[in-house]
Amino acid sequence: MKDENRRKLLEIFNDEMYLAKNEEERKTAFIPIAEPQLGFEEFANLSDAYLSTWISSLGDYITSFENAFSTYCGRMYGVSTSNGTTALHLALAALEIGKGDEVIVPDITFAATINAVLYVGATPVIVDIEKDSWCINPTEIENAITEKTKAIIPVHIYGQPCDMERIMDIAKRHNIYVVEDCAEAHGAEFDGRKVGSFGNIACFSFFGNKVITSGEGGMCLTDSEELNSRMRVLRDHGMNKQFKYYHDRVGFNYRMTNMQAAIGLAQLQDINSKLIWRNELEMKYREAFKEIGEVHFQNSSIDKRTKVTWLVTAYVDSEIQRNRIMEQMKTDRIDARPFFVPLSHMKIYSDYCSSNKVSTDISKRGFNLPTSSFIGDIEINRIILSVKKALEK
Ligand SMILES: *Cc1c(COP(=O)(O)O)cnc(C)c1O
Repeated sequence: MKDENRRKLLEIFNDEMYLAKNEEERKTAFIPIAEPQLGFEEFANLSDAYLSTWISSLGDYITSFENAFSTYCGRMYGVSTSNGTTALHLALAALEIGKGDEVIVPDITFAATINAVLYVGATPVIVDIEKDSWCINPTEIENAITEKTKAIIPVHIYGQPCDMERIMDIAKRHNIYVVEDCAEAHGAEFDGRKVGSFGNIACFSFFGNKVITSGEGGMCLTDSEELNSRMRVLRDHGMNKQFKYYHDRVGFNYRMTNMQAAIGLAQLQDINSKLIWRNELEMKYREAFKEIGEVHFQNSSIDKRTKVTWLVTAYVDSEIQRNRIMEQMKTDRIDARPFFVPLSHMKIYSDYCSSNKVSTDISKRGFNLPTSSFIGDIEINRIILSVKKALEK
């Protein structure tokens, strides 16, 4: 990059080399639920990709990002995709799951998890979550298994790892696949091992609100050479790798661009500091909310599980209280979010429900607090005040 351009760029980054915000405006500004933390390195990589003219889905950043991320999670292969949803679809397609097969999913997740099952023509089976972790309940998985069950998709929800010991044991005994949905838990660990290192395939998202981002983007990780090459072919229109324009499979165009990978790689190189500020922000919220006894936080001390903070997640005792908090926050220009609506509560998925008692209860009382690197004391004070107001009503 030219020195002159470099100087111009440096003016818009703060001392720590992240994009900065105006202090005065923060006192009244809208507080979004999440904001990506973008720095100088992302911009430098992005400019590099741009100047190379390799802006489409070939280029060095793609390979570098795939290698670096699979290594970070302790896996052999990484196949980058256009987003987390296409990663899930690609994984199920590569495992040849389809019509007549059943795939077990948790009731509390983002809809992309179950949609991927429906895309391949398989039948989803929705099961309930654990009371303490809010992750898929292994006992309910076992209850839902039939001769047709081909796979389980455990979702590490709101940064919390699933009980991978019991889930892998169930999968082994019943000879079924495990596809981890790690979209909300980059860097979380179960029993000292990173999430994404357990399943036959693990899928990640790098959407703008996730732990690290590439704008849009996703990745499938695996240790199987065969699944790796199958996913690479399917991602690229099902085209034969030697014989151009000869298609062996009905494939997809699910590739990541070099520009996305350029941003993703810079984000990954900074992931440890992001995990630290995320955790510290959650601790700050927990401390600040101590004076309001009625607000409780996600369980962060379950044996063997080291959660990360994706969105700070809390709950109150009743649905009325939760809804009051949501309303007050909206009035105060704070973008808090209610819990995911259980899949089983939506008309388009309700037929697939097997169990949903705990999910139904917690979804009415839970909510997410704004989680971004721009949240400081000014924002936390505004948020606390808003919740207090809501609970006094
Ligand atoms: C965000 C998310 C996805 C989808 O990822 P996209 O990149 O937005 O397609 C899938 N599953 C879960 C649990 C998510 O939170």
